Order: sequence, then structure tokens, then C-alpha cells
Amino acid sequence: MILGRCSPLWLVPKGLAMVGSSLARQTHTTENARPSSDMSEFRKAFSKAKHIAVITGAGVSAESGIPTFRGAGGLWRKWKTQDLATPEAFSRNPSRVWEFYHHRREMALAARPNAAHQALAECEARLSRQGRCVTIITQNTDELHQRAGSKHILEIHGNLFKTRCVSCGEVESNHRSPTQTPATPACEDDECNGLLRPNVVWFGETLDSDILTKVEEELGMCDLCLVVGTSSIVFPAAMFAPQVASRGVPVAEFNTETTPVTSGFTFHFQGPCGTTLPRALARHETEVI
Ligand SMILES: [Zn+2]
Repeated sequence: MILGRCSPLWLVPKGLAMVGSSLARQTHTTENARPSSDMSEFRKAFSKAKHIAVITGAGVSAESGIPTFRGAGGLWRKWKTQDLATPEAFSRNPSRVWEFYHHRREMALAARPNAAHQALAECEARLSRQGRCVTIITQNTDELHQRAGSKHILEIHGNLFKTRCVSCGEVESNHRSPTQTPATPACEDDECNGLLRPNVVWFGETLDSDILTKVEEELGMCDLCLVVGTSSIVFPAAMFAPQVASRGVPVAEFNTETTPVTSGFTFHFQGPCGTTLPRALARHETEVI
């Protein structure tokens, strides 16, 4: 299986093109198929699902006002964000990279979970009382899912509010206000005193294999998959959702746009996910508790 190997974050451009083109080819065989936007049909599938995997991406955070990392606003001062989120940039100038991450942490702290985050958290709490399970597999690092109340979250790109020591590898939560954090924070273990880095996955780095194993398990056992606020031609949705669809499991995409692979999914609901998700995940008439 593809996920058995660690995949580099967002892949290199050549890899991305490969993933996109192979998926586009697959969908040619079903080019007449169109995903349904029939909400009552989705609601039937939702009412039967016992194990729901939800893949979320930057679009969900964008609706809380957090700019997408690579979008038009993907510049911080004069640097491209892509040039700051690399291990090389950190070795060259850790304080500049930390300054950039302080800025991102401040934006995340100032943002609030939106209706999509809340609908997912409320759905997870409600379904768990019925012995059903919702797992969020997110590319977002801003903790807005946690702040909305979601519990079962796999953060495949790490977390802005965790640090990792480059010497001893210790990972710690860190919610201190950026203005109170030293320019280059150090490990608090006296014998280590190593440099701390943001515990996020940078360009050119591999994803955490323990987390990928858990993601693989979730994708293998889910009986409904939602793809929310992420383009399905970009890693990881490019691999995750089609993998679920190939098992014959319904996949529902909630996004502001369609992509070449959308036609391989069962459902597509276009529009802001803060509008579409609350309707989709509201209590179903068959739910008794
Ligand atoms: Zn250390």
C-alpha cells in the first residue's frame, strides 16, 4: 500500500504531477459518472455509517480567516512561505523561521473555529454516544478542530503549538504568547539545551510514520469518508480519498470547487463548508440519542 512508505510533504512538483495525472487517467473510465449533490441521499449514507473518516484541509481554516499557506497571500515579508518552511531555512536562520511561525501562531490564536469545525465536533460527540466513531485526518496545524471540541484527530502535518527539540527529539505543547517566546527557544532539559523547532512537517520532510499507520487503519475501516476544504488533486487527499472510494465506500467532497478527481467520488457539495457541513451532519431522524 502506498502509505506504507513515508511520503514527502506535498511531494516534489514532479511527484505531484505524477499523482495528479494517474488519478486523472483513472477517472477517465468513469467520465460519465457524476457525483451526486443530493443531500437526502448523502443523509441516508450518513445515517448508516458507523465509522466516518474526515479529511480536512486549508479550506476549512480559510473560512476562519487563516490564509492558505500557498495561496496568493503566501508571502511573509519578502519571503515565499515555501522558502521558510524547510529544514534548510531553519539551519540557515532559525530565528527568522521562528519569527514566521510566531506570526502563524498569532494568526491561529486570533482565529476562531467556524461552523464547519463546530459541526464536526458536535457530530463526533453525538455519534460517540451511539457507539459510532468520527476521526478527523487533518492537514491543518492550527488546532481549530481541537478548540471546537473534536477529540479524535490525526494531524498529519504536525501542530503549530508543539515544539520538538532538534537534539533530544522531545515534543512538548507550547501555547505561550509569541511575544514572550525567545527568538530561538531552547530545550528546557538542562543537560540538553538543544534548539527547539516547530513540530510541523516541512517541505522535503517525511510524514510521521506512526501517524500514517493510524491514518491507514482509519481509511481501511471507515464506511463513509468526507473530504472537506481540500483539493483532491493535492496530497494527501489525492491518495487517501480515492483509496477509500476504490473499496466501494462512499466519499463525499465538500469544497468550493471541483477537481478532475471529483467525478470519482459519490457526492460533491459545492460551497463554503461552513454552510454545507452543518446541514450534512445534523442529527438524522433515525438517531435516537
Ligand atoms: Zn532536548
